[in-house]
Amino acid sequence: MQSALRLVWIYPDLLSTYGDRGNLLVLARRAQLRGIAVEVAHVNSDQRVPADGDIYLLGGGEDLPQILAARRLQGDGGLAAAAARGAVVFAVCAGYQIIGTEFGGAEGEPVPGLGLLDIRSGRGDRRGVGEVLADVDPALGVERLTGFENHQGVTRRGPGVQPLATVLTGVGNGDGTEGAHAGRIVGTYLHGPALVRNPSLADLLIGWVAGTPLPPIDPKQEELVTDLRGERLAAFSGG
Ligand code: GLN
Repeated sequence: MQSALRLVWIYPDLLSTYGDRGNLLVLARRAQLRGIAVEVAHVNSDQRVPADGDIYLLGGGEDLPQILAARRLQGDGGLAAAAARGAVVFAVCAGYQIIGTEFGGAEGEPVPGLGLLDIRSGRGDRRGVGEVLADVDPALGVERLTGFENHQGVTRRGPGVQPLATVLTGVGNGDGTEGAHAGRIVGTYLHGPALVRNPSLADLLIGWVAGTPLPPIDPKQEELVTDLRGERLAAFSGG
């Protein structure tokens, strides 16, 4: 990693439902608590996407802003260039669908995505709304996920793309899996925000950039996170 961890928050004006900006805040915080300097770029949809970031974040969005965001990102090219040189991309819900090859528009019509991840999304019969519990692909070494979903999209993976997790409760991709990952690109249907509720997923992304195992964070600083996590997990066991 260079002198600072460069976080790029893509299109907060179009893609930021259910507090997805929290993903940005928690990445910055968990890096800083380990002495890693952070630079943050908020890139609105009328601005160029810098190609030299380390972690790119995309949030959820409603159908029309999602289509507009996909068009602008295609025209811009910065995110695709960054992904091609191995930058980390973490995309949520509408953002997850946008980085795939195709997604369903407002009337279910196919809309081209960026094709950074070999996934295709269409529109399912019903919206998936509610809390999700899912076990992460063991290859990633991340703890069980909790999150909140609200989407009509259903997503299929192509060869070479692994599911991020297996659903225990909820809908996710619609086939018993949740999210997807290939290389350093990770997509999920989970809001929450996902990285606040699942700090080990946040650390996976920072660790990919740092290239070395991350030191633990002072347990005092983790108290709120641990409480939130415990509370969300207990909600599933009726506790
Ligand atoms: N519009 C997309 C869908 O309904 C994404 C929704 C979202 O980002 N919450 O599938």
